[in-house]
Amino acid sequence: MYYNQDTIVYLDGNWIPAAKATTGLYSQTLHYGNGVFEGIRSYETENGAQIFKAKEHYERLLYSAEVMHIPCNYTVDELIDLTYELLQKNNMEDAYVRPLLYLGEQMTLIPAEESHLLLCAWSWDKYLGDEKVRLMTSGYQRPNPKSTHIQAKVVGHYTNSILASREAKQKGYDEALLLDAQGFVAEGPGANFFYEKDGILYTCPLGNILSGITRQTVFEMAKSLGYTIVEKHFVPDDVYNADGAFFTGTAAEVAPIESLDDHNFKKPWEETMGYVFSREYQKLVLQQTSNFFEPA
Ligand code: PMP
Repeated sequence: MYYNQDTIVYLDGNWIPAAKATTGLYSQTLHYGNGVFEGIRSYETENGAQIFKAKEHYERLLYSAEVMHIPCNYTVDELIDLTYELLQKNNMEDAYVRPLLYLGEQMTLIPAEESHLLLCAWSWDKYLGDEKVRLMTSGYQRPNPKSTHIQAKVVGHYTNSILASREAKQKGYDEALLLDAQGFVAEGPGANFFYEKDGILYTCPLGNILSGITRQTVFEMAKSLGYTIVEKHFVPDDVYNADGAFFTGTAAEVAPIESLDDHNFKKPWEETMGYVFSREYQKLVLQQTSNFFEPA
């Protein structure tokens, strides 16, 4: 699904077939989870392949690497150029791109000095698809921000996401909504959360969540559309009687949510602000909004 005999990846300065790429078994990332990564999308547009917010993604990768003590010898511009080259070599325009910075051999808890860069891409449908998702409040909390750098996209953080997602699916829901250590709503396992009530959008402030690039894009679109977004702490009870809700993320894009803990949202999706965002987001990533949208 992720590669075939023709797939080319970038690994430490070389372009090699994915099927022939290997790595060592004593990588600190494999044993202890200290690696950092990104999830990026490229879109087939009238101007060819266009990576959406490539600079923002690679700036976040370098931030993640820095706070996790992972050396990275590439600049944002170099990483963007390599990513376009990767797409070209694989003949892809619509693609999900996965850069991963992982560490070399180190079995102690001192950060390894050697790091490796993998860039790969595959075709990936929207995470969560187009169907409205049924959420449950997770029994798992997001990691306490005092225990890690929560705004970094760290490999090990995703064990928490896997547990929450698995729990939700096992209980018959589509996806989880995780709370923070204080019991306020934080985010999904791989997406940020918004809800709409009486013409106003609400989302939690930064602090316990990944600072999503799509979340930021929604803020920018809201400004252009004249919508109000309030960042505040809220609990699942506040969401139960919402008019609508949605997830945002590079993989999910703007994804409709039907219910939380079996409380259905009031408005049909097509009448919500989330729906407007989902439409505008498509125009934006396909670069069809030049008259509408001026990035902040
Ligand atoms: N939160 C988490 C935990 C995520 O994994 C993601 C996906 N990267 C997001 C939020 C959304 O971030 P973005 O919009 O930058 O993809």
